[in-house]
Amino acid sequence: MYPALPADRRDPSAGSIGNFPAVFGFILDAGSATFTPALKRGRKNRLGGTVPQTLQYRDSVAWLTEHVYPKIRDSVPRFEWELHAPLIAEINHLKRERNAVILGHNYMLPEIFHGIADFTGDSLALSERARETDAEIIVFCGVHFMAETAKILNPSRTVLIPDLDAGCSLSESISPEDVRLLKQRYPGIPVVTYMNTPAAIKAESDVCCTSANARSVVESLGTDTVIFLPDEYLARNVAAETDVKVIAWSGRCIVHERFTVDEIHAYREQYPGIEVIAHPECSPEVCEEADFVGSTSGMIGHLDHARSNQVIMVTECSMSDNVQEAHPELQFVKPCSLCPHMKKISLEKTLDSLRELRYEIEVAPEIRQRALRALERMLEVGRDRVAA
Ligand code: SF4
Repeated sequence: MYPALPADRRDPSAGSIGNFPAVFGFILDAGSATFTPALKRGRKNRLGGTVPQTLQYRDSVAWLTEHVYPKIRDSVPRFEWELHAPLIAEINHLKRERNAVILGHNYMLPEIFHGIADFTGDSLALSERARETDAEIIVFCGVHFMAETAKILNPSRTVLIPDLDAGCSLSESISPEDVRLLKQRYPGIPVVTYMNTPAAIKAESDVCCTSANARSVVESLGTDTVIFLPDEYLARNVAAETDVKVIAWSGRCIVHERFTVDEIHAYREQYPGIEVIAHPECSPEVCEEADFVGSTSGMIGHLDHARSNQVIMVTECSMSDNVQEAHPELQFVKPCSLCPHMKKISLEKTLDSLRELRYEIEVAPEIRQRALRALERMLEVGRDRVAA
């Protein structure tokens, strides 16, 4: 049996506040984030001292997990699988014992995505799941702002994140004070805030959005101008799709800002006819070069209509690994751009999270109420209509 709530629960509600200057309404130069070189898949963490000795690959474990390996065998070698399988079996057992649900973002490692997540999807889909679940515990295999959003939407649940340091360069690019100063500078202009922000930023906003509904949210306000925070590239991509004037901030996703037009050209040269599918956190120039642009769920949906059997998903690496099983007919060319934040989440940490009920997300009631308004307004809008 595992212990009840430990005394050392930590409160991560302070969130991350960037040290960016309060520059009003300009699209700033690049440099809002520093890229950390792509992580190797974190064997060190996974083999660290947190794995109980009893977690061995045995016949019972093989039987309990045999349905998972065929889904991930293209990206996980057999010897590695035998390290994952006991953890998967134990997590799934503990999940039932704890009445917990695991929400897994599309960027999770394949063994998490296919092995333990009850629901997978983009941040919009997972928010909806978090709001609806009646499980007592939500373990969010994603990054901090996602877990915080789950807590805002379903405050009576215990929401856990396996690693408190799983942040986001966009989330760290702006502070509540920056937003307040922007509102002073542009009085009356509504503030649309990307989901990838701490609760305190959402609380300063009129409405939230994700990459799955940014254009619809912007147009739902019925104004000719909006302040759109904090992703500069998403703001510019939305501005290109709508007549609404967009005042942007200078945040960047450290994963998507790396992709370049030259890189896309090189892939097209090497793989003639390849279909290029990009995420709207990429630069407008890269999106312009793509055959399709959409959120992670939009990209996955588009695969059903792929016009080539070779596809490049211009986004985080694990996406291609995770969708390969559903699309054996497609060959995925994988430009490797790992999110170091997403990759902080491992099976070992998820097991520890469930065993020790850590790390619990809390949001101050006053912040939560205001952030909830912005999120609910977004959820009423739903998703953009995406042309497949
Ligand atoms: S992929 Fe980019 S936007 Fe997503 S969590 Fe990582 S840094 Fe943030």
